[in-house]
Amino acid sequence: MKKGRWIIILLTFIIALTGCTKKETSGIALERYSATYLSLFDTVTSIVGYAESEEEFNTITKQIHDEMLTYHRLYDIYNTYDGIVNLKNVNDTAGIAPVKVDQRIIDLILFSKEIYKESNHKVNIALGSVLALWHEAREDGLYDPLNAYLPDMDELIAESKHCDLDKVIVDDDNNTVFFEDPNIRLDVGAIAKGYATQKAIENIDISLLISVGGNVASTKSKPDGSPWVVGLQDTQKSEGNYKQKVILDKGAVVTSGDYQRYYEVDGVKYHHIIDPDTLMPAKYWKAVSVIVPDSGVADGLSTALFLMNQEDGQRLLDKYNGVALWTDKDGNEYQSNGFDSVIKN
Ligand code: ADP
Ligand code: MG
Repeated sequence: MKKGRWIIILLTFIIALTGCTKKETSGIALERYSATYLSLFDTVTSIVGYAESEEEFNTITKQIHDEMLTYHRLYDIYNTYDGIVNLKNVNDTAGIAPVKVDQRIIDLILFSKEIYKESNHKVNIALGSVLALWHEAREDGLYDPLNAYLPDMDELIAESKHCDLDKVIVDDDNNTVFFEDPNIRLDVGAIAKGYATQKAIENIDISLLISVGGNVASTKSKPDGSPWVVGLQDTQKSEGNYKQKVILDKGAVVTSGDYQRYYEVDGVKYHHIIDPDTLMPAKYWKAVSVIVPDSGVADGLSTALFLMNQEDGQRLLDKYNGVALWTDKDGNEYQSNGFDSVIKN
């Protein structure tokens, strides 16, 4: 959730969007419309869907946008907003006394605790103080590439002592959050976007496909019954080249990759997904795409699978009924069990 993030190259891109300015009749008196927003989660959001009229589509997409904007503000760790208690407020004060928060913050933390447990602590929203060191070094390095530097390992190790998510105490009855360790900081970048997307589209009953910075989710298949087709960007080639196309009825496709957000130090690239065991950028994969019914799970799992070997990743996929495509550093691809059922031929 960073400013200026929408300039990143989107990993996945909705093929369905090409030529979408033109309305197309779907065959059953519904027309196809699209909308784009730059205001959500510091990235580009595109929505394409079928509605009876432009007015109906606009009403629905405005509802989605407004809900996503509320989530964006609640989950923002960099800015505060008048009239709401968000995660930046929580980070600043929950180490002193319990903070009363919106139910949506409680729910996100509880969901993140589940992903923490299931990912064997690899996806950890309490890594904030470690991630902040990387964030600062990356921002500085992007601003002034000649003087780019790595975070200091001693500092990383010192901060890693304050990353125990079990010390984030959630009181679901009183809606409060308390940090038993006052130096804990939350960073929900691995999960929040997909989670908010899921919540915002959950009760939408038209056929719609949404991409929030490449995190793609759909409400159901197209009105004629055919699935949406989503392209997975070929990491070796320029944007718009797809290594695979996958089909999606109701569900989500989310990719985590090492080339989305990174900076360079002495000619070596350092990306933004940090392995809690090494405190360095994870080295398992170049990219991992996950397809699973729930967009929040998809976001959590794509980060999780990026941080583990294929065998451990497959175990997680089995648990959440998902499939995945792993791409290693040399561009070799590995499909999970059942991935062939989502390939668009
Ligand atoms: P993106 O945000 O680019 O879509 P991810 O969903 O994989 O990609 O999330 C990456 C973000 O998650 C990072 O920018 C950082 O904020 C956070 N993060 C990095 N490493 C971890 C980790 N091990 N556990 C939890 N969050 C992480
Ligand atoms: Mg993620």
